Amino acid sequence: MIISMSEQATEQEIDHVIQRIEECGFQAHVVRGTERTIIGAVGSGERRSELMALRAAPGVADIVPIAHPFKLVGRQIKQGQTIVNVRGVPIGGPDIVMIAGPCSVESRDQLLETARAVRAAGATMLRGGAYKPRTSPYDFQGLGLEALELLREAREETGLPIVTEVMSEADVDTVAEYADMLQVGARNMQNYALLRRIATTKHPVLLKRSPAATVKEWLLAAEYLLAGGNPNVVLCERGIKTFVTEMRNTLDLAAVALAKELSHLPVIVDPSHGTGRRSLIPAASRAAVAIGADGLIVEVHPCPERALSDGEQSLDFAGFAQLTASLSEPVRKLAVVTSEVAMSTT
Ligand code: PEP
Ligand code: MN
Repeated sequence: MIISMSEQATEQEIDHVIQRIEECGFQAHVVRGTERTIIGAVGSGERRSELMALRAAPGVADIVPIAHPFKLVGRQIKQGQTIVNVRGVPIGGPDIVMIAGPCSVESRDQLLETARAVRAAGATMLRGGAYKPRTSPYDFQGLGLEALELLREAREETGLPIVTEVMSEADVDTVAEYADMLQVGARNMQNYALLRRIATTKHPVLLKRSPAATVKEWLLAAEYLLAGGNPNVVLCERGIKTFVTEMRNTLDLAAVALAKELSHLPVIVDPSHGTGRRSLIPAASRAAVAIGADGLIVEVHPCPERALSDGEQSLDFAGFAQLTASLSEPVRKLAVVTSEVAMSTT
């Protein structure tokens, strides 16, 4: 149920509505807009009719049911764009956020060199896996706590906020102590116990789309975080499984536009996992920006051929610098086409 308060509603009237929603066994989620306050009553209680009766309460302008299953991430409750602030870096605002770094943190030198190089090339956040979800139990599993310490050191030196994956409920508090943003990996998108636990931290969350999830399932996974009290969620498209075998995954860019149409949450794109091929990262990145992504997360390694994970889809430092320099190209190309058209009509 969405309860729209009138523009003149007082704080007391808003508090009264929140109290009634809670008395009826629902959760109240308050969205304060520039003109009016909207209160979402979310839950599966049986006292819906009592909520409808709030139409008569002072300060209430209108009450409508929420049509979508994703009640808090959907646009019905919030028309504007959510901006998630990660230690001073806004995601969802006018600037494209560029997150870069190694797939896995492998050593102090590897991480610090990469952090310096990506910052110099224009990255605004640093990524690096400490706990790695590997398909084979015999592959490198990440340095765990040692990697978290190194990430902290890299942030101290470069000022770049850090994002790293948390794989298990047991690690949530530890990872939250070190990281500025918690990554939920594609394999854990539907680990609802993990999502509920992460929601209690209020830390910004990067929620990757499962390779087998529909857009609806992805948004409902985000709904777990918002319903659990954490509104700081950024969605990340990282490719899905299709019949295509030439690429590791199929980067579903239309899903980025759809997620942005359906939700107020920021959406970023991971062209590294999305393609699995270094050569495709620049084109996929420019396409992601053109379709409306709020940012990119790209794997970068000092020497990709020696990487302990995902070397084939990692850029080296020069490649990453070229990528950031090339990101304004679609805009320039569109400008050229426009001026050609203009010239031919005069
Ligand atoms: C990663 O970011 O290195 C990673 C494992 O991503 P995903 O969960 O999308 O596979
Ligand atoms: Mn990776």
